[in-house]
Amino acid sequence: MLQKETDVIVVGSGPGGATVARELAQSNAGLGITLLEHGRDWRTTPLYGTYPGGMMYTDKASFLTTQEGLSIVRPLLVGGATSMYCGCAARPLPWWQTRYGIDLDATTDQTIAELHIAPLPPALRGVASTRIAAAAADLGQDWQPQEKFMQPERTGDFACGATCMLGCRCGAKWNAAEYVDEAVQNGIDLWTGTKVERMLVSNGRAVGVWGKWRGKAFAMYAPVVILAAGGIGTPLILQHTGLTAAGQGMTMDTTVMVYGLAPYKGIGNEPPMTWSYADDDLGVMYSTLIDPWLNYPIAMLRKGPAYPLTWHRWGRTLGVMIKLKDEISGFVRAQPRGFTISKGLTDHDRQRLAAAEAVAGRILRQAGCDPDTIFTTPLRGTHPSGTVRIGEMLTDDLETEIQNLYVCDASVFPEALARPTVLTIIALGKRLAAHLRVVHKR
Ligand SMILES: Cc1cc2nc3c(=O)[nH]c(=O)nc-3n(C[C@H](O)[C@H](O)[C@H](O)COP(=O)(O)OP(=O)(O)OC[C@H]3O[C@@H](n4cnc5c(N)ncnc54)[C@H](O)[C@@H]3O)c2cc1C
Repeated sequence: MLQKETDVIVVGSGPGGATVARELAQSNAGLGITLLEHGRDWRTTPLYGTYPGGMMYTDKASFLTTQEGLSIVRPLLVGGATSMYCGCAARPLPWWQTRYGIDLDATTDQTIAELHIAPLPPALRGVASTRIAAAAADLGQDWQPQEKFMQPERTGDFACGATCMLGCRCGAKWNAAEYVDEAVQNGIDLWTGTKVERMLVSNGRAVGVWGKWRGKAFAMYAPVVILAAGGIGTPLILQHTGLTAAGQGMTMDTTVMVYGLAPYKGIGNEPPMTWSYADDDLGVMYSTLIDPWLNYPIAMLRKGPAYPLTWHRWGRTLGVMIKLKDEISGFVRAQPRGFTISKGLTDHDRQRLAAAEAVAGRILRQAGCDPDTIFTTPLRGTHPSGTVRIGEMLTDDLETEIQNLYVCDASVFPEALARPTVLTIIALGKRLAAHLRVVHKR
């Protein structure tokens, strides 16, 4: 069996793991940091950002579903889900401070400045997307240009449409893999193709991890371990380590899209989610989005046999995405082979979602869509989170009941954000790195 000793192990290279690894590497020259990532780095391959690529680097080729049939896209590659995200950013809401005593202001401000987070310039927000925002304004909703992890000036050929969600091919969109690159330049050891199965624990303290590296068993030893394998991966590792409360209950920012046929060019070739509006009383966020062209009929098959036949309308489709602040429910559960997820909606969730769908329908009609063509897509979950919650399984410094074992990813959310998650996760990662520098000073 392969064995290695190091100072710090980070598991998972999404925004949580990449941030902690990068921050520690930047400030602790000589510290042995090893980053273990299940997937590989697809960025330099011709498949990156293509439909076949999108299937190859997602769990179950993007056909992962909950027991109830809710579809989940779970990217497994260097950079984690930021390889396939829409590049949207949202500040953590004040409830992090008021309800949980966690102040993310400084690390959020730092990230916004460092990554140049800002809305796209007006000319790149999309003509049809902007018409949706104007229609919402006519109905009294003040949609705003969405903050983005995108810098069009980084590329001479900004070519962002719905396919941005398969992986960014033009280079405008920031991806956590860039933090991984920086960390590697600063000396960390990156192991790809490495699946961590469980923790190694001695006398209540973390002493390392056990897993498979390219199919071969390995044990890696370190006095500090940070799990950042995402809202599904992290609770599975904890369950295999005997922490059975992990994965009991989750949030998903459960999402639907409401589609309608416009008498003009639709939003599919425009950058995704350029405008948005959050209704925090109802607990929903609205934005402009439709499925990429080839994903559309597959998503529609789940709606019913007649719906894939609407594929020919894709070029004139408008879409209002609704993200729901869903209540904690369901589970992620390890099985002898793999895992199962259950995530239904509570009655309260259902009522609020129905109210939001009615609002989205009105906006689309106001934007000129034929009322007979308006329908809601099946439920999906793009933000599996809240599976190892702060205040229940974690201290506010993100430490578990196993000493020196920390978690830093979407699983730590104490409740659904109903917002883009990545800025919050980076802010948590920077805050955790600052804490580790103090308590584990060498
Ligand atoms: C299509 C799509 C669009 C989205 N759009 C946005 C958006 O616009 N803005 C936004 O803020 N958020 C968006 N999100 C959500 C956001 O990308 C995720 O919530 C975020 O990346 C979660 O970060 P994380 O660090 O928790 O985990 P992840 O990004 O999921 O990273 C976890 C990493 O751990 C690895 N891993 C898993 N298990 C193991 C294991 N056992 N051993 C080793 N490694 C493991 C995985 O391969 C992965 O690389 C989107 C998500 C999707 C799917």
